[in-house]
Amino acid sequence: MVARKRTAAMTSRRKAGSRRTSASGSPRASAATRSSARASRPSGPPSRKIAVAVLGGTGTVGQRFIQLLERHPWFELAEVMASDQSAGKRYEEAVGSRWKLSTPIPMAARALRVKGPRERLTSRLLFSALDASVAGELEEHYARAGHLVSSNARNHRMDPLVPLVIPEINRDHLVLLDRQPYGEGGIVTNPNCSTIVMALALAPLHQRYQVESVVVTTFQATSGAGYPGVPSLDILGNVVPFVPGEEPKMESETHKILGHLNGRGIEPAEFPVSAQCHRVPVIDGHLEAVSVKLRGQPSRKQIIDTMTSFRPLARLDLPSAPVDPIVVRQEDDRPQPRLDADREGGMGVTVGRLRPCPVLQWKFEALGHNTIRGAAGAAILNAEILYRDGRL
Ligand code: NAP
Repeated sequence: MVARKRTAAMTSRRKAGSRRTSASGSPRASAATRSSARASRPSGPPSRKIAVAVLGGTGTVGQRFIQLLERHPWFELAEVMASDQSAGKRYEEAVGSRWKLSTPIPMAARALRVKGPRERLTSRLLFSALDASVAGELEEHYARAGHLVSSNARNHRMDPLVPLVIPEINRDHLVLLDRQPYGEGGIVTNPNCSTIVMALALAPLHQRYQVESVVVTTFQATSGAGYPGVPSLDILGNVVPFVPGEEPKMESETHKILGHLNGRGIEPAEFPVSAQCHRVPVIDGHLEAVSVKLRGQPSRKQIIDTMTSFRPLARLDLPSAPVDPIVVRQEDDRPQPRLDADREGGMGVTVGRLRPCPVLQWKFEALGHNTIRGAAGAAILNAEILYRDGRL
């Protein structure tokens, strides 16, 4: 039984929502559910911190979750789950020398006993940083048990019933949760680390002008491969022109995120995306060279104004939301991973070198922190929007 604080009204709302959806599956049912959710949205912070668990808490992204949760004003780390090799150990012992962040292991995590796969959890909200080989099945297991899972893993991202969310862009897609077969549980995903960076930079342009085509070349940090990740002899003084699975993910996830919600689900955006992905010897921060063709002929100033005025979460008072999701720099040599990845606490995307593209129309560089904006921070922001949506 999942321990959670929810009012009788909220419980009956969700039950009514799922009954309506499963009975008819109609657009009318999802609209009704959505407006009902709006009516019960909390406007302030939770009266008490919400207990959360981190699945895969010993890995690269899991550690980042635990670091970011240390001072989170709404959420409190209560449980960690990892593989059988970590299960039963104190967190500090299980993670051992694999703790690779520059801040110490938070006190709240050190003594927690790591739980094993499928072990019972009591937190309503679970963050998943599980290895993709097990994430699909374990996330479904916990969703069926009534937990809300905010996942980083790729497994459910393209499932038509699973929202793939960047709150600044498509938080309306969360209504898909009401159609999932998990009762009061559910799965929400955030995009792949390189997709998030590009999608955030493109979203305001797509909303105002419509994107017609995109070509992107990535320069991706080694922390994106987990730990121990790429062998040092392969990456030091080198560039590896292949990141397994990354190019199709950038192409398909972008379409889903920038797609439209209709009565049948998400209608993906249709513009072509061509991605070439590279692993480079950088620790944190994915840099992306983007060329884009837009409908119409916006000027450089209009593009910059469109990006810098993009603040769709400004009124929601979400602890992890960056004040400026997109920062545009004017210098010729920015953004750079070492100098710009931590912008806005690692949650901002920095754009620079906006200039005409003789092949498409405009080109620019975009940079984001891959384990914060591209992973743990993204999933935490998704959970904050779930709270605001009245779903926690
Ligand atoms: P990682 O460092 O390899 O960590 C994997 C985690 O999964 C560890 O906690 C591991 O526990 C756990 N695990 C492995 N097998 C398990 C099992 N059978 N049962 C339960 N737990 C198991 O990987 P990562 O880089 O943090 O990535 C985690 C997820 O986030 C992946 O799905 C990845 O694709 C995604 N992601 C990563 C990034 C990034 O920048 N790194 C960005 C976006 C998304 P043990 O320590 O006990 O083995």
